[in-house]
Amino acid sequence: MEQPRTLLEAVRMFKDPATAEDYFARLRWRAVVACPRTDCGSVSVAHLPKYRRWYCNDCKRQFSVKTGTIFEESPIGFDKWLPALWMLSADRNGISSCELARALGVTQKTAWFMLHRIRLAMETGTFTKLFGEVEIDEAYIGGKPRHRGPGPTGTKSQGPRSGGKAIVLGFRQRGGHVRAMVIDNVRRTTLLPKIREHVVPGSIVYTDSLSAYYDARELYSHFTVNHAYEYVRGNVHTNTIESFWSVLRRTLRGTYVAPRPWHLQRYLDEQIFRFNRRDEKDGPRFVQTAKASEGKRITYKQLIARQR
Ligand SMILES: [Zn+2]
Repeated sequence: MEQPRTLLEAVRMFKDPATAEDYFARLRWRAVVACPRTDCGSVSVAHLPKYRRWYCNDCKRQFSVKTGTIFEESPIGFDKWLPALWMLSADRNGISSCELARALGVTQKTAWFMLHRIRLAMETGTFTKLFGEVEIDEAYIGGKPRHRGPGPTGTKSQGPRSGGKAIVLGFRQRGGHVRAMVIDNVRRTTLLPKIREHVVPGSIVYTDSLSAYYDARELYSHFTVNHAYEYVRGNVHTNTIESFWSVLRRTLRGTYVAPRPWHLQRYLDEQIFRFNRRDEKDGPRFVQTAKASEGKRITYKQLIARQR
């Protein structure tokens, strides 16, 4: 299937809303249109071209190409959605809602919501565990207020050492993928279940000398490096996960200023998605984001509920 190679090509290819919508429909369904309702999936459907919808002969409901995707109930056309997907998948430093609003001619609030929907598509839902040599490290993010207000000491503490910062636990399989998630604290009762969830037992794990990791040696070959006096001891280091932290920190500082802690996981998902595909070309990465938009939904209500 034809793919744009640059942002300019994407904008040209998708400038007509109907053409852009048809492009996404082909991407989503290939040749066979199937009812997207989770309890149905029937391929006995009738096209209603006039309304740009389909009628399902089995569940007797109508659907559009947006039904059951991150675009559901969005009044924004694919002439804006697809370039937005392109921008967020291609720009390694991410894109702010102000930049996207200017680029697309939508309000900043709309752009903010669009970006969060795309980040949801980028979330990697996988049950496969990492294996081999895996570096594990924790990072402390943010903590500075956006404007005047209570400083890091005034904000709710998230753990013994966090000082109001959000804590992120990261994994990187050497020669493989990164995973990272926001965690509440760095106690062993938090860390060990996460390690078990993401790393195959028997693997080699490398961490810093945080004592909460020590019990990992029951299930893994565990090597630690004490950052108080050394960063690398032969094979023992956490440099490859650190390189992810530096990309993450640069993005958060440069583009996103200070995401609220409850949105941090979404920014992580976005960064991980790009980082794990950084050797691919922009076109295929864009197609992957577009395909991942299926089966995921978030409403504005759900997004802003976390802010109250
Ligand atoms: Zn149906």
